Amino acid sequence: MEVKTSLLDNMIGVGDMVLLEPLSEDSFLENLKKRFDHNEIYTYIGSVVISMNPYRSLPIFTPEKVEEYRNRNFYELSPHIYALADEAYRSLRDQDKDQCILITGESGAGKTEASKLVMSYVAAVCGKGQEVNKVKEQLLQSNPVLEAFGNAKTVRNDNSSRFGKYMDIEFDFKGDPLGGVISNYLLEKSRVVKQPRGERNFHVFYQLLSGASDDTLSNISVFLDCNAMQIVGFMEDEVQSVLELVAAVLKLGNIEFKPESRCNGTDESRIKDKNDLKEMCELLGIEQSVLERAFSYRTVEAKMEKVSTTLNVAQAYYARDALAKNLYSRLFSWLVTRINESIKAQAKTRHKVMGVLDIYGFEIFEDNSFEQFIINYCNEKLQQIFIELTLHEEQEEYIREGIEWTNIEYFNNAIICDLIENNQNGILAMLDEECLRPGTVTDETFLDKLNTICAEHQHFESRLSKNSKFLNDHSLPHNCFRIQHYAGKVLYRVEGFVDKNNDLLYRDLSQAMYKANHSLIKQLFPEGNPSKVNLKRPPTAGFQFKASVGTLMKNLQTKNPNYIRCIKPNDKKASHIFTESLVRHQVRYLGLMENVRVRRAGYAFRQAYEPCLERYKMLCKRTWPHWRGPEREGVEVLMTDLQVPADEFSYGRSKIFIRNPRTLFFLEERRRQC
Ligand code: ADP
Ligand code: MG
Repeated sequence: MEVKTSLLDNMIGVGDMVLLEPLSEDSFLENLKKRFDHNEIYTYIGSVVISMNPYRSLPIFTPEKVEEYRNRNFYELSPHIYALADEAYRSLRDQDKDQCILITGESGAGKTEASKLVMSYVAAVCGKGQEVNKVKEQLLQSNPVLEAFGNAKTVRNDNSSRFGKYMDIEFDFKGDPLGGVISNYLLEKSRVVKQPRGERNFHVFYQLLSGASDDTLSNISVFLDCNAMQIVGFMEDEVQSVLELVAAVLKLGNIEFKPESRCNGTDESRIKDKNDLKEMCELLGIEQSVLERAFSYRTVEAKMEKVSTTLNVAQAYYARDALAKNLYSRLFSWLVTRINESIKAQAKTRHKVMGVLDIYGFEIFEDNSFEQFIINYCNEKLQQIFIELTLHEEQEEYIREGIEWTNIEYFNNAIICDLIENNQNGILAMLDEECLRPGTVTDETFLDKLNTICAEHQHFESRLSKNSKFLNDHSLPHNCFRIQHYAGKVLYRVEGFVDKNNDLLYRDLSQAMYKANHSLIKQLFPEGNPSKVNLKRPPTAGFQFKASVGTLMKNLQTKNPNYIRCIKPNDKKASHIFTESLVRHQVRYLGLMENVRVRRAGYAFRQAYEPCLERYKMLCKRTWPHWRGPEREGVEVLMTDLQVPADEFSYGRSKIFIRNPRTLFFLEERRRQC
């Protein structure tokens, strides 16, 4: 059974880690490096695609490549993201299975690029025609629109997505796209008011500034490339409104406050220079005195009473920043809703769905705050799905099919998910409890609570927790807690947790926004409507995120998963550099070794008897052109005639399981020669 195939070429390493001999972490890395050095950025672990970021454009994404991979079997050609996209698309079209493409990896590993490659591949191979082409164009152009508003330059990535995105692409019976639905997850809105050193604000601010001089904001849309927005279906006046809001956020950021002493000894805040305030009000059609007042007072409504207190300088800045963050993040959510209106399919004709998930990767910074906590929680959940659907499901399938099997051990991170999301004593629940508690609530009281409740948890560490083993350990500062995530230890500073979770906007400000003579901004602050007195608190940021991640996970579980695991070769955003330690770390926490082991201990390939017989029946006189018995017996006849060694496969209840991809190559090779 000698086979020559691109998956086994020694020069460029092996294309499927399942074939690696001997298998160890070192040989795994060596194989990745060898391939990376030969521009082979894709490697399989069975049906999982590992993707290394090349940090330069390679000639492997051409229309010719698309044609090459089109309608070919997954293992026929050398590993490519197109093979995965093709497999997913065909199984959606021909086997009626909803698909999801799950793309994971840390910031800068190539997730967003991968998601775009998958989308463009599917767009290239599915139906053509005027209507279909319009749908495709709109789906593809939604990317640059969202990237302008939701991406920013960070230390790790010049075009880092600062929001999570899940897009369902909907298809009809023929496999033609009908439209799509985008869900967005927690935009990192704190970036609007503050960026870490060496990083920038969202792209759109710079696009706006590079185009418009200060006094020509009345005609800003001319300066920005709004083509994508138009293709997606935005009207001209909508584009103008959106840009006015972005400009207003910029103006808002310029407003400064100074203290003015009162005779009672307190300081009240005053606006330093009213020019920016004036311009902002002009942009949004707000009366200047209304906004000025909203920056000076805070009104609290309790039962039938209204109490106004003056703001000091710190409170005024807090109010300003809260407004900027809310304005921008609500604008972003509005954009997503607006895009969905344009791209949504007619409900009746929808048949099958392909979901593409491109969500922020695991983040370990020097300074980690609420945002990293939320992002890393989301990554824990994705790892759970990976374990559930790949490792766990794989082993379950053997049991279901009655195949003999010894379990492989792997680390199950369910325990970390529980530490964060448990309804009774999880960290998010503790945070909510603290935020809703009457009395003085601070980040420190929140940490105290964690120290009492979570102290015993084996993945939680803090210096002040009861029985702390870190009493004198200065690597663990007082105002921090540390979580041992599946991907590594992360130290979180509690400062800002309570605030960010509360996400409060003073009512005076939402009312001022609602009074604007600007239909978009009015729409964004419905709670500012004075006739709608609502004393109920809005749900906290953590609560909302947990709920939307829960919905996402349920959605993903109903679909057939296709995995792309992205790896970042170096920290320099540079081509040709393979930093071994960095890659090793990612290989470890992505659980890739366990993945290969489960795959190797088991069977690399499985197929139901009927399609298997259909595909290979021409290889045997007894099954060609027709086999008139049970399909399983047909497959047995086939394997016997082809003299495939008996330990290479097993017959399950409904499927044949093939141990080694080599056997598959052999079958494919024979088929080609036919
Ligand atoms: P992530 O979404 O994982 O944070 P991106 O997909 O934004 O990372 O990739 C970061 C950068 O790496 C891109 O802006 C691009 O310069 C480069 N890159 C990623 N994937 C590829 C690829 N397949 N080919 C060429 N360059 C790539
Ligand atoms: Mg990204």
